[in-house]
Amino acid sequence: MTTIDVPVVAATEIPQGNRHDLRHDLSPDAPELENYSEGDGAFGYVHSYETGSHLDGPGVRVTLFLSGCPLRCQYCHNPDTWKLKHGTRIPLERIITRLGHFAPALRSLKGGLTLSGGEPLVQPAFSRRIFAAAKSFGLHTALDTSGLLGESATDEYLESVDLVLLDIKSWDPETYRRVTSQDIAPTLRFAKRLAAMNKPVWLRYVLVPGLTDDPANVEGVARFVAPMKNVEWVEVLPFHQLGAFKWKAMNLEYKNSDTSSPTPDLINRVLEQFRSAGCRVR
Ligand code: SF4
Repeated sequence: MTTIDVPVVAATEIPQGNRHDLRHDLSPDAPELENYSEGDGAFGYVHSYETGSHLDGPGVRVTLFLSGCPLRCQYCHNPDTWKLKHGTRIPLERIITRLGHFAPALRSLKGGLTLSGGEPLVQPAFSRRIFAAAKSFGLHTALDTSGLLGESATDEYLESVDLVLLDIKSWDPETYRRVTSQDIAPTLRFAKRLAAMNKPVWLRYVLVPGLTDDPANVEGVARFVAPMKNVEWVEVLPFHQLGAFKWKAMNLEYKNSDTSSPTPDLINRVLEQFRSAGCRVR
């Protein structure tokens, strides 16, 4: 009797939706991050994509949310992107074809493609090939990252990235670990490397009352970033509860159920701290 190798079946449709859709356990057989070898990036795991975003870079964007993230931010609004198994396994070619359909509109709207997640650098070969395809379509490209895996983004990788949206989630190392479960050092190393290569960065700081609002903590980020000429903007993102339902649906322990969004006074104080240090803020 002849045996036939059955290929791993991947979905051919990229799930359209938005960052607030709950999607998890769509590929239950996917490996854990620590066991994942993505090969040449011909396939990857995707949460969803969103069209018409004005939030993730200049102009109107398509934002593609990739699965997998090694951080465990207390306030994460996308815990359904933490594991590869939460996403859908998609062939790269399918993504490139779809992107090609959007490209003329994105070019005329002076927008482009943003890869977010999750953490796109969990899948460096897959994300690099998507960025390279976007550049071949003449699109502006942005990488939304925590910077923890910055060393996975080679110089060649970064040649296809026009803008990095870099999240520095805290300055104080202990607070950073409490917020994310990870070490801050790789993110700071990546920020310095981007500065040395003059790669445009929009720095993002998520403001969570009682967690990341300590004045000394904000001051540390502001003083670190202010001398970096490549940092075009510092964006202060107010904490919100839009992702809380996902934690509940996924039976995860959510520590911020009683945390409020920051008041306008607190937001203004933090913006002023960045401004006083010499940063352009919004
Ligand atoms: S880095 Fe982003 S996706 Fe990962 S846990 Fe933090 S907020 Fe969530």
